[in-house]
Amino acid sequence: MTHEADHHMGSDPSLAECADFLEQIVYFLDNELDAADCSAVRIHLDQCNPCLEKYDLQRTVKSVVARSCAEAAPDELRQRVLLRIRQVQVEIRETP
Ligand SMILES: [Zn+2]
Repeated sequence: MTHEADHHMGSDPSLAECADFLEQIVYFLDNELDAADCSAVRIHLDQCNPCLEKYDLQRTVKSVVARSCAEAAPDELRQRVLLRIRQVQVEIRETP
């Protein structure tokens, strides 16, 4: 693997650089970076496996959270509607 060999040549991406990019990944996921920063993050993710893994993890967590939030609202609404239906049924039974 040539990619592996490159990593052992001595010019690894510096840890400080990675810390910077990991901060930017959060904004990157939220689409809050401008085009220049965006491509810088993409290039780094392309070259740095640890950052790519963290990016994948964050993206997965984000999509799971987004999905569960999207499902929570209709479910709560459904419960409220069911409760309202039951109340109406009770009212109908109690009204002569
Ligand atoms: Zn990195």
